[in-house]
Amino acid sequence: MPQRYRISVTGVVQGVGFRPFVKRLADRFALAGAVSNTTGGVVIEIETEDPPSAEAFVAALHSEAPRSARIEQCEMRELESAAGYSSFVISASRPIDGLFTLISPDIATCAECLQDIFDPANRRFHYAFTNCTNCGPRYSITTQIPYDRPNTTMAPFRMCSECEAEYGDEANRRFHAQPNACPRCGPRLTLEPKREDAMQAAVSALEQGRIVALKGLGGFQLACNALSAEAVAKLRARKKRGRKPFAVMMRDLAAVERYCELSGPERELLSSPAAPIVLLKMRDPGAFPVAVASGLNRLGVMLPYTPLHHLLFRGSQDCLVMTSGNISEEPIVISNAEARTRLGAICDDLLLHDREIFMRVDDSVACWFDGRPRILRRARGYAPEPVRLEVEMADLLACGAELKNTFCITKGPYAILSQHIGDMENYETLEFFEETLRNLKGVYRAEPRLLAHDLHPDYLATRWAARQNLPTLAVQHHHAHIAACMAENGVRQPVIGVSLDGTGYGSDAQVWGGEFLICDYFGFRRAAHFRYVPLIGVNRAMRQGWRMAAAHLYDAFGKDYRRLDLPLWDAARGCCWNLFDRLLQKPPLLTSSCGRLFDAIAALAGICGESSYEGEAAMLLEAAAETEGSDLYPILVDRTAAPWTIDTRPMIRKIAEECARSHSAAKIAGAFHRTIGFTIEMICAELGDLTGLCTVCLSGGTFQNFTLLELVVPRLRARGFNVFTHSQVPPNDGGLSLGQAVIAAEHLRRERPDYVPGDTGKDH
Ligand code: ZN
Ligand code: ZN
Ligand code: FE
Repeated sequence: MPQRYRISVTGVVQGVGFRPFVKRLADRFALAGAVSNTTGGVVIEIETEDPPSAEAFVAALHSEAPRSARIEQCEMRELESAAGYSSFVISASRPIDGLFTLISPDIATCAECLQDIFDPANRRFHYAFTNCTNCGPRYSITTQIPYDRPNTTMAPFRMCSECEAEYGDEANRRFHAQPNACPRCGPRLTLEPKREDAMQAAVSALEQGRIVALKGLGGFQLACNALSAEAVAKLRARKKRGRKPFAVMMRDLAAVERYCELSGPERELLSSPAAPIVLLKMRDPGAFPVAVASGLNRLGVMLPYTPLHHLLFRGSQDCLVMTSGNISEEPIVISNAEARTRLGAICDDLLLHDREIFMRVDDSVACWFDGRPRILRRARGYAPEPVRLEVEMADLLACGAELKNTFCITKGPYAILSQHIGDMENYETLEFFEETLRNLKGVYRAEPRLLAHDLHPDYLATRWAARQNLPTLAVQHHHAHIAACMAENGVRQPVIGVSLDGTGYGSDAQVWGGEFLICDYFGFRRAAHFRYVPLIGVNRAMRQGWRMAAAHLYDAFGKDYRRLDLPLWDAARGCCWNLFDRLLQKPPLLTSSCGRLFDAIAALAGICGESSYEGEAAMLLEAAAETEGSDLYPILVDRTAAPWTIDTRPMIRKIAEECARSHSAAKIAGAFHRTIGFTIEMICAELGDLTGLCTVCLSGGTFQNFTLLELVVPRLRARGFNVFTHSQVPPNDGGLSLGQAVIAAEHLRRERPDYVPGDTGKDH
């Protein structure tokens, strides 16, 4: 009787040609069985009458694995009975624990396909839609499951005999590659205004400083020469985009190295199958026109990730601005018709093709910190890969936040987050939310029976949830941030949660954002927060940091604030004092926001009085900060009542005094970062002593700040805390839906102990 073994392999083993490799290896060892992808990695079953050959097979898995694969764990166990395999097969579907089939995220062009498109003798020479089982479009073209060609937007293209032969040949890299295509049978490029050889004409257009809108993988992109001040300024003006930085696509790693500092892991992240935009320190911020990333010292950089992108670099240029093809904050454009009407006025040329994009997916943004990638915008290359949780969850839908919205569907131990949807401020974005939800619900066969949403009554997602005919649960924003951090790190015990961000609706209806919570998945206690200051002109205060500066000065100096002689008060804004006097007569909304405190300091220090995009003031303050010094500003903690308040007034008085003496902005920014870092450390230490808790979770948009993380994480560890931040989901509001989901699941579990996850609600 043959013996059957199951081998579970985890690590980087998907989208790297691992299954065909396993197949070739099994054939060589004359083993029958099967290989398939799962969420956690790859599962192999083999059957043999010769157990030593199974051992040898496993050894070869390690020693001969494909170059870009990385095996982290490989476990073999013997199964009870044989399955009667007659040969070794690659399972086409991807079942996960019998629950549902997984759709792969889109995968960047692999090295072998890259060779094909630059080999003049290859039939795919310069072909923009080359792909194989290891690379190419996936999520963006899948209309239904199972993932087979008729269920993708490749359906209208009939494979030619050569492509068909590759598709059917187990030994070929294009065996069962659903989007397989070649110049004879696949999608084609066209350029508008019309010219011969669309690709070459697009390259020339870019070289001439023109703006080209191109149909990318998950949506249209707008490209121009990143080194031409004129081209970049033109794009910025036409796109009506303030100073929000542009991402730059660079020819190859050598080009990236010329412009940016690049560590080993950052290099790996850039060239990973997900190929995200990676935030890198620029060697010389002056190398790029100011309009690319004004005032910042980090640049969002990505490598070409489709053949089309690689071909754009056939010209002389190394650096192209590559930004989402949309109008201001609307969803990214995906259809040719939409591109003509919406992007026509922005671009000079349109590079189109005839393969439809089904799902919109923006480029992802990531950085490297503390030995792990940190995803700051989770979209192409990551979505819809689930986050694996430690516990089984009920079928829920968490609707996410207002800004940087994502939603989250749970199924068994998996949390499936949507790609980045965007700011839920317009009808188009809500439509995108609904369209993605329909798709993911269908794909994962999910029927949520509870909706979790933010506590804020006016968020578009909250109001959407109320309109559905389902039970709902409101979740406090900062609790959700911490729960998301706990969930992705598999933390089960209560934690000290430091939840710092721009804004979130508080349980007392004030605007929270500088919160220290003692919490678990079920609930939280607000242990400490930054002192409340008035939020004057609620929505305007988000962008106009000088309003926050004034509010903090009012808080710190009382009526005397008008006598301050600060550079901040130029003639145009002098009028604000009278406005404040009037506004302050009626009780204003109060805020403990840490993000707004950053805005206030940036304004006081003369770095940024008014942001043109969310987070600008804080990013500029960080970029300006001199990190060498050791001086701190005074802060008081008022422990007389619960929750404690972190009194920022002594700091504000000191900074105001320094500003009046024209103290260096870089020094103020540096000392401010250190003060916030030190405050976090001290409050956590005290709360740790009081509660005996030894785990700290850091979440919220403020923790996108590298300087702050570098100040806080090592110091908390040195104090003996287990410190967790984010890696798989963003620390900003893009990760909020995961937190809402796990909190809602815990509520269901406790309040309905009879509730069985996966229960259909019917009587048995
Ligand atoms: Zn490939
Ligand atoms: Zn073909
Ligand atoms: Fe937030």
